[in-house]
Order: sequence, then C-alpha cells, then structure tokens
Amino acid sequence: RGKRAFIAGIADDNGYGWAIAKSLAAAGAEILVGTWVPALNIFETSLRRGKFDESRVLPDGSLMEITKVYPLDAVFDSLEDVPEDIKTNKRYAGSSKWTVSEVAESVKEDFGSIDILVHSLANGPEVTKHLLETSRKGYLAAISASSYSYVSLLKHFLPIMNPGGSSISLTYIASERIIPGYGGGMSSAKAALESDTRVLAFEAGRKQKVRVNTISAGPLRSRAAKAIGFIDMMIDYSIANAPLQKELSADEVGNTAAFLASPLASAITGAVIYVDNGLNAMGVGV
Ligand code: NAD
Repeated sequence: RGKRAFIAGIADDNGYGWAIAKSLAAAGAEILVGTWVPALNIFETSLRRGKFDESRVLPDGSLMEITKVYPLDAVFDSLEDVPEDIKTNKRYAGSSKWTVSEVAESVKEDFGSIDILVHSLANGPEVTKHLLETSRKGYLAAISASSYSYVSLLKHFLPIMNPGGSSISLTYIASERIIPGYGGGMSSAKAALESDTRVLAFEAGRKQKVRVNTISAGPLRSRAAKAIGFIDMMIDYSIANAPLQKELSADEVGNTAAFLASPLASAITGAVIYVDNGLNAMGVGV
C-alpha cells in the first residue's frame, strides 16, 4: 500500500507545503491537507475551478490529487480553547472540527492512519518589528502558531502514525544566525522548533518508531514570506553569496521532504537539514 501524508499549511500553490505535497504525490503518497480556516474557502474554490491545475502537473504528466482538505487552526488544540469571538466569526462559523485534536480525530475516522506528517506553517503577527519592539503578546503568538503548533500536531497525530513514519517541519536559519528583519519573535520561534525537533525525535522514536526532522530552507517568495517584506533582498543575497548561485526552487525542498519521508532516510532523525544552496555554510559574503 502507498503511504498517506497529512500536510498542514497549504493555502495556495506558492509555498513549501504545496511543493512538498507534489514531491510526496510524485513518489506515490496519498495527500491530505490541513488549510488555515480563514484561507479555506478561497483555496478550495481555486482548486475546484482549476486555478492550480498547471501547478498540479507531476513529472509523469498526471495531476496531483488531494484526497481531502481539512480546515485547521493550529493555534487551538481543542474546542474549549476557542474564544467566543472566533467561534462566532463568520469565516470560522462556516466550518467545524478545525482544532488540532478534532482534525486528528477526523483523519482517524476517515482513514485510520497516516505515515507522514508535515508542518509547513508559521505566523508571527509582529514579524516586521524588531525583537526589542516586540510585545509579549506578539512574541507568544509567534511561538504558539509557529512552534507549539508543531508539538500539538505531532502529539495528536502520533497515535495514528504507523511505525516507520516520518514527521517534517520547516525552519529558517534566523534561529541560529542574526537575520535582521525576521522579527516579532519569529527567530525565537524557529529556535524552539529546532530544539523541539531533537526532543520530539527522542520521544516519538522511542514511543512509536517515528522519525522527526526539520528542513532549514532558503528563501522562497511564498505568501507568508512576502508579508515579511524583505524576501526579494534575501533571494538576491543568497544568489550573490551562496556556494550554489541559483534561485532556490520550492521543488528542491519538496524533494528533500520526500527523501526524509522515505526509507532512504531510515536512520535520520532529530536533524536540521539545510536546503539553501549552501548559504548556511558561509561565514562572510563574497
Ligand atoms: P505559506 O504562506 O505557503 O505557508 C504558511 C501557511 O501557514 C499558510 O498556508 C497559512 O495559511 C498557514 N497558517 C498560518 N497560521 C496558521 C494557523 N494558525 N493554523 C493553520 N495554518 C496556518 O509560506 P511558506 O513560506 O511556504 O511557509 C511554510 C513554512 O516554511 C513556514 O514554517 C515558514 O516559516 C517556512 N520557511 C519559509 C521560508 C521562505 O523563505 N518562504 C524560508 C524558511 C522556512
């Protein structure tokens, strides 16, 4: 039987989540998607109307099939955590069962189990602010949406992950090197995510023989990255300074995720894997 993947954090065809879905689909996996509730309507409408058909084309010419799209808000673990204003917000009221525990429950009811869990989401409301200007609320919101969301997803999906399964998240080098402009506590959130990758690798490995890795990706002009405001500069910087002087394609990250999810990576866990044209290895720009 082919593997089944749940990918959290796809709302268009420009981000890393979409590229990972395609690489996994090309390798024969069945694709389930978790889409942020406020983005669900437009994503499903665009899918249905064929807006993504060109980017659904796989290497063999067939179109990637998404078996099911689940509404998801990864900052809420269960219904009790949801405040009244969100419950009654019209973008949220239109769907149900979108907290992390409920989505895991729905996937279990629909499919029984999964083999691959991908976390490709982040949010930092104050990302454009310097860390010194960041509020407590903004900092904690970045950690909640970008770091704890992964702990929560793995916690709720692990019981339905088959032994030998693989879990992958996306991180950024701002966790370990100074990247001015990646603010609002997002650098802190990525540092937490990378540290958690190691601890979760231990716990999920011992408990369920599941591997846990994170991909430290180079810059990509995704919707989220455009909101930060410096993405074009980061892409230019990488092309000018990285060992490999080319623009990074989302597919290169997707293919690495497919490798990490496959038996070819059966001894890799707790790792931060750089997919950045080698930029992380540079000490100075030249
Ligand atoms: P993206 O916009 O395609 O993906 C981010 C997704 O997160 C969106 O679909 C958004 O709807 C979703 N999201 C936000 N808050 C959510 C919530 N509370 N619940 C559920 N979903 C939520 O952008 P991307 O750049 O492909 O981001 C994917 C991952 O890659 C992120 O972790 C990001 O930090 C990481 N990353 C991106 C870059 C880059 O340059 N683009 C570089 C390194 C790492």
